[in-house]
Amino acid sequence: MLPVIALVGRPNVGKSTLFNRMTNTRDALVADMPGVTRDRKYGEGKVGEQSYIVIDTGGISGDEKGIDHEMASQSLQAIEDADVVFFMVDGRAGLMPADALIADYLRRTEKTIYLVVNKTDGIDPDVAMSDFHTLGLGEPIPVAAAHNRGVTVLTEYCLSGFEEDEEPGDEEERRVRIAIVGRPNVGKSTLVNRLLGEERVIVFDEAGTTRDSIYIPYERDGKPYTLIDTAGVRRRKNITEVVEKFSIIKTLQSIKDANVVVLVIDARQGLTDQDLHMLGFIMETGRALVIALNKWDGMTEEEKKEIKEQIRRRLDFAGFARFHFISALYGSGVGEMYGSVNEAYESAMAKWPTNRLTLLLEDIVADHQPPQVGGHRIKLRYAHQGGSNPPIIVVHGNRTDHLPESYKRYLKNKFIKILKIHGTPVRFEFKTGE
Ligand code: GDP
Ligand code: GDP
Repeated sequence: MLPVIALVGRPNVGKSTLFNRMTNTRDALVADMPGVTRDRKYGEGKVGEQSYIVIDTGGISGDEKGIDHEMASQSLQAIEDADVVFFMVDGRAGLMPADALIADYLRRTEKTIYLVVNKTDGIDPDVAMSDFHTLGLGEPIPVAAAHNRGVTVLTEYCLSGFEEDEEPGDEEERRVRIAIVGRPNVGKSTLVNRLLGEERVIVFDEAGTTRDSIYIPYERDGKPYTLIDTAGVRRRKNITEVVEKFSIIKTLQSIKDANVVVLVIDARQGLTDQDLHMLGFIMETGRALVIALNKWDGMTEEEKKEIKEQIRRRLDFAGFARFHFISALYGSGVGEMYGSVNEAYESAMAKWPTNRLTLLLEDIVADHQPPQVGGHRIKLRYAHQGGSNPPIIVVHGNRTDHLPESYKRYLKNKFIKILKIHGTPVRFEFKTGE
C-alpha cells in the first residue's frame, strides 16, 4: 500500500511549496469530494522506486481558542489517514506560540511526526533550528522547499521503513486487478455484487484499517481476477448497513494498485466536477480505464441523449477508454464490461520486442517523414518499450526535441492503431543520441 504523508503547519510556512516539490504534478488532485473541504489537496509523488501520496492539509492558524475546533475540522482529519506527518515550521519566523499548540496536539496522536524547518536558505541552519528543539518532536530537519533543498533527503528518510512498490509474483501477475471507483452513491457496491455475481468468491476475512480497500480474488470463465472494492461491500453484514464513509485516500490507493480502473458515473446525475477530478487522477497514474455510466434503467431517450452529448464534449481527453451504459441494479450491460476490462488489461500489459517496434517506426516514418528543422532532417532510428501499465514507447533519434507536436501525434496514433491498443493510455518518450 502506498504510504500517505500529511503536511501540517501554520499558514505561510511553505506547505504548498513543499507539496508542489513533492508531487511534480502540474495540477494537484484538488479534492472537492463530498465531505471534504476544498482547501485540502492530494497528490502523488515518487522518490526512487517508492511512490507515495501527499496531502496538503491547508493552514492551521492555531489561535488558542480555535485550535481544538480547527484540529477536529475536516482538513485535519487528513492526519488520521496519514502514515507520516510533516509538521512544518518557518525557520525565519522562529518558534511561534501557534507552533507549540500544534505540536501539543500532534504529540497526542500516534502518528510518526517529522519536524520540518523550512526557509533555511541564506540563514544559519543551526541557529534556525535551535528554537525548535523545545517542541519535543525530535531532531528538526532543515529544508528550503522553494529551492528544493533537503526535500528528497527528507522524503527518502521518512519513507525508508516502507516497502518499495513490489513487483507482483507469477501468480499475482496473471490476475487482473480491477478497482471500482466513483463518488458516493453512484452504485459501486451494487456493481461489485453484480460483477462477482455467481462467481465463486474465495471468502476471506481480513482485518484492515478503514482506509484499506478489500481485495476479492475470484475467477470468471477460467480467468483470475482480483476486485478492489473501495465501497466496502464485503465488510458489511448486509447491503443496507453502511460501514464507512467514502474515503478519497482509499480511492487513490486502489487506483494506483489496479491494472484496470472502472470509473462508475451516475448517468442520472450527469457528469460532475468530482467525476472529472477522479478521472484526472486516473489519467495521471496512467491506468487502463473502463467507464461505466450507471443507472441507465428507466432513463428517457431525451436524458440518454443529453448525457451522451456531455460525454462527447467533456470526456474527450479520455477517448481511449470504452464506455458502457449499464444498470448495476438490474444487471443489464454488466457482463459485457468484462470484454473491455480484458482488452484494456491485455493492451496495458502487452510486451513488444524492440525489432517489431523499430520496424513499425521505419514504416510509419517512410509513409510520412518528419519535417526539416533549420535545414536538417530529424531522424528517428529505433524504438523500444520502456514499461507497461501504461505502455511506454521510447523513440530514439536525433534532434527529437525539435519534433513538432503534430508529428508526435501522428506517430502516436499510428502506433496505437497498428498495435491495436485499446483501453489504456500510451506514453511516448523521445530521446536524442545513439
Ligand atoms: P503555506 O501557506 O504553508 O502553504 O505556504 P506557501 O507554500 O504558500 O509559502 C508561503 C511563502 O513562503 C511564499 O511566499 C513562499 O514563496 C515562501 N517560501 C516557501 N518555501 C520557502 C523557502 O524554502 N525559502 C524561502 N525563503 N521562502 C519560502
Ligand atoms: P455506492 O455508494 O457507490 O456504493 O452506491 P450503492 O451501490 O450503495 O448504490 C447507491 C444507490 O443507488 C442504492 O440505492 C442503489 O440501489 C442505487 N443503484 C445502484 N445501481 C443502480 C442502477 O443501476 N439503477 C438504479 N435505478 N439504481 C441503482
